[in-house]
Amino acid sequence: MNLYIDRGATNIRYQIEDSSIVTIKESNIISLIRELTTQYNIKRVYISFAGEVRDNIIISAPNIDIEKLDLSSYFPNIQFKIDNDLNCAILAEAKYWNSRDIVALYIGTGIGAGAISSGNIVRGFSNLAGEIGHIPFKKAPFSCGCGKYNCIELFASGSAVKKWSEYLNKDFKRLEDMPKEIYNNFLEGVLYASATLITLFNPQILVLGGGVIEKNSFLIDYIVENIDRYAYNPNLKDLKIVQTKLKDAPLEGAKLL
Ligand SMILES: [Zn+2]
Repeated sequence: MNLYIDRGATNIRYQIEDSSIVTIKESNIISLIRELTTQYNIKRVYISFAGEVRDNIIISAPNIDIEKLDLSSYFPNIQFKIDNDLNCAILAEAKYWNSRDIVALYIGTGIGAGAISSGNIVRGFSNLAGEIGHIPFKKAPFSCGCGKYNCIELFASGSAVKKWSEYLNKDFKRLEDMPKEIYNNFLEGVLYASATLITLFNPQILVLGGGVIEKNSFLIDYIVENIDRYAYNPNLKDLKIVQTKLKDAPLEGAKLL
């Protein structure tokens, strides 16, 4: 049997073969696999992981408390296919939109990107390309999971909303409830990330997804209306900016690994 896992920064979602998807909070991935292998005859595990992955080995994750982890050393009889969550998401998106030049910008706990160019995932030398959340943007009064103080992720992500809430000692139910300057930084950060990806990768489609986009789909209209102020304009010709139609693109993409 196949087990599919989407290890996000906040939740774990998993699915065994074609059964329904189960969501659990803050579970240890090793104990989860151990538990499921005692109940099912699992031969292969496909994992979308919100962090750094190389050659099917988890290296690190700024938003998850985890160290280098080679799951096959714990489960020698299971075959593992593991990749970064945005690499998984872009595989699923490219299939859905039938595109060979597509970029995904996902905003959930973090803000991350995946890119397929001329039909190939853009991975970089050590599978780290596309870490858009850690591009310098503005100086924040607190640090990012990566240790720096100026990442886009500190202004335009779910964790940014949490960090600004704690810093200002106020609870924001909606993005629009944040003080104007912080709200504007959020919008600008989303625009800055979108425009950077469009200018760098010249995609046919920019697809947006993740928990923050799901709850605030007005962000799509905001990007469409304002992107020409940030992106290199020739790249906007015939570009489609869309919201994901997939319920769980990282999990769907893990199946394609
Ligand atoms: Zn960072």
